[in-house]
Amino acid sequence: MEQWYVLVEVDVDWKFLVKHKESLYLPQFYCSSCNQYSRYIAAARVPEPPVEEVRELLPTLPVELHREMLEQLFSANYTQVTDIVKQIETMMNVSPDQFFAMEQAIRQVYQMPSSRLICPGQVVGPLLVSARFKPQWDVLYTGGGLYFSRRVGEKLLESGLTGIMLFPVYTHSGKPSEVYEAVVTGYCGLPSLVSSGGDFFQCEVCRQWYLRGDHPLKVRFNPSVWDGSDFFHVEGSSAIYMSEYAYEVLHTPYFFVEVWADFEEMEGAWIYPDFDLEGNVFS
Ligand SMILES: [Zn+2]
Repeated sequence: MEQWYVLVEVDVDWKFLVKHKESLYLPQFYCSSCNQYSRYIAAARVPEPPVEEVRELLPTLPVELHREMLEQLFSANYTQVTDIVKQIETMMNVSPDQFFAMEQAIRQVYQMPSSRLICPGQVVGPLLVSARFKPQWDVLYTGGGLYFSRRVGEKLLESGLTGIMLFPVYTHSGKPSEVYEAVVTGYCGLPSLVSSGGDFFQCEVCRQWYLRGDHPLKVRFNPSVWDGSDFFHVEGSSAIYMSEYAYEVLHTPYFFVEVWADFEEMEGAWIYPDFDLEGNVFS
């Protein structure tokens, strides 16, 4: 029976310091219908070089908060602070509709297929690293980003693995560094629910999925809604998943030089961590 794996962060490379050439952020959104913020998705950035059309699309975040709001914050008591912080956060976020319009425009500029996810709150543009940086690893997962050494990145694509795109991380002088940044394009729909007493619900406004019911609930990877890619995201999850083939390729002697990531076998069912519609963390 085929097995799937989820990527797990195991170690931090303190020497791998990436910077952005421009502070060009995609905003996050806040949905007033389900009372939730947009979610983070690993390896779903837009590393394409920024162009003028994209710069014009993205809003400038308010650098200075309204004086009145700051004064309120300083004189507030403990319970009021939570409310004011929430107001500030709401102010810093766009609505889901505004975000989707921006997302659509960015897709058109870069001619991106729907398989490319565009994650709110992420910087647009390539990453930069010092020219002196030589990776001690061939694969690095930071919990948000997935990186390959140049040597392994090129071999990886030659091996025919699907569901992944590689973008060079550049040096400050604009040359490709020894590192590739990966973007995951493979997709699997919602997992199937194993336990009874729950159901999946999609917010009509922000399109985010929730699992309602008596928690904890168990779900299982559903291969019938998987596009067959070797690297993929699962609907409702921020993690990166891998096929058995991808796991095997990364564990052949050629690749298994230094892998700073762990590939945890998915046991067929796992507890789905999420927030409910009232914003309570699921157990
Ligand atoms: Zn919503």
